[in-house]
Amino acid sequence: MKQSDIMNALRERIKEKKYKFTRQRQIILQAFLDSKENHMSAEDIFAMVKDENPDIGLATVYRSLELFTSLELLKKLDFGDGRSRYELNDRNLKHSHHHLICLGCGRVVEFSYDFLDGLKDKIEREDGFQIVDSQLKVYGYCRECQKKNSI
Ligand SMILES: [Zn+2]
Ligand SMILES: [Zn+2]
Repeated sequence: MKQSDIMNALRERIKEKKYKFTRQRQIILQAFLDSKENHMSAEDIFAMVKDENPDIGLATVYRSLELFTSLELLKKLDFGDGRSRYELNDRNLKHSHHHLICLGCGRVVEFSYDFLDGLKDKIEREDGFQIVDSQLKVYGYCRECQKKNSI
């Protein structure tokens, strides 16, 4: 999906819910599209936008992120380090992914494997549970941290 298509979809969703697609809101959403790191805290976003947009304060970023989460544009993630991260909701990106979280350096890597689809089928079949969404968090140590630890 092209960036402009994603932004259009986000704008439509905001208008659908009768909120204004303000310049500040667009800038904050654009930061998610621009960033390679898909899991950002309010502070990360603030650091990205503040130089070019001095009118956007940290409080505005917090409020916008909460709004976007309630509108399901973003997902709020908790990787257990006391700082909420946000990412674009997969529903807008048309793919589903899970997270590998390094306990050494805090790096978060995304992955999607098909075996989880098998698990999904099993849960739906055996527990009669209809799955709408799922997020798997796998904790451990990344390659770099393993190297560091073995020296
Ligand atoms: Zn690491
Ligand atoms: Zn992610």
